[in-house]
Amino acid sequence: MASPRPILIIEDDATVRETLLDQLSIDREFAPAGASSAAEADRQLEKEGTRYDAILLDVGLPDADGREYCAKLRQSGIAVPIIMLTGQGAEQDVVRGLDSGANDYIPKPFRLNELLARLRAQLRVFDSSEHAVFTIGPYEFRPSMKQLLEHERNRKIRLTEKEAAILKFLYRAGGAPVPRQTLLNEVWGYNSAVTTHTLETHVYRLRQKIEPDPSDTRLLVTEAGGYRLVAVGA
Ligand code: CA
Repeated sequence: MASPRPILIIEDDATVRETLLDQLSIDREFAPAGASSAAEADRQLEKEGTRYDAILLDVGLPDADGREYCAKLRQSGIAVPIIMLTGQGAEQDVVRGLDSGANDYIPKPFRLNELLARLRAQLRVFDSSEHAVFTIGPYEFRPSMKQLLEHERNRKIRLTEKEAAILKFLYRAGGAPVPRQTLLNEVWGYNSAVTTHTLETHVYRLRQKIEPDPSDTRLLVTEAGGYRLVAVGA
């Protein structure tokens, strides 16, 4: 089970906001937070150590035009998927919504299943994009670049394709142990003749790169017949 993905819901209509907060929390697929204005959203986004994997943004906020606010978020470097919620269905508004840098646009009233499907689709696209950045311990992990950045020590660690794939899959598991055979299947494919010994060799090399002390593993630990990533998330 992957860790719940943090989603920011910016919506001034309390009923819509609370419904979304409720529904998105079901099954722990998402960890939603709410904001009722652009100012409140700014405070949430600026909070130390917070990250949002996607943003649902109402077009009509009390203190901002959602489209302008969306454009502002893009200018400030926020690259995660932004889905606009709006009551206006005119085609021109669709175009304006997308011009503002939004990834998708859902007119109200929307069906929850449709919104969830579109949110998942946007997250899938984003996760495989060059913008995807995950936090693992002291590192910023960019799977598309196959590298880890350690800002504190101004250090860059290059990973092989398999090492990046192993980290990405363990990250997806959200800190839960992943059995060796599962990891092997996910990274090398189900029909591969590769044995767990190969996986162990890759994990050994990965630890040499990422563990401050490879003889005392703290980030990528062995557990329950597999591996687990500690300190996942911001
Ligand atoms: Ca509104």
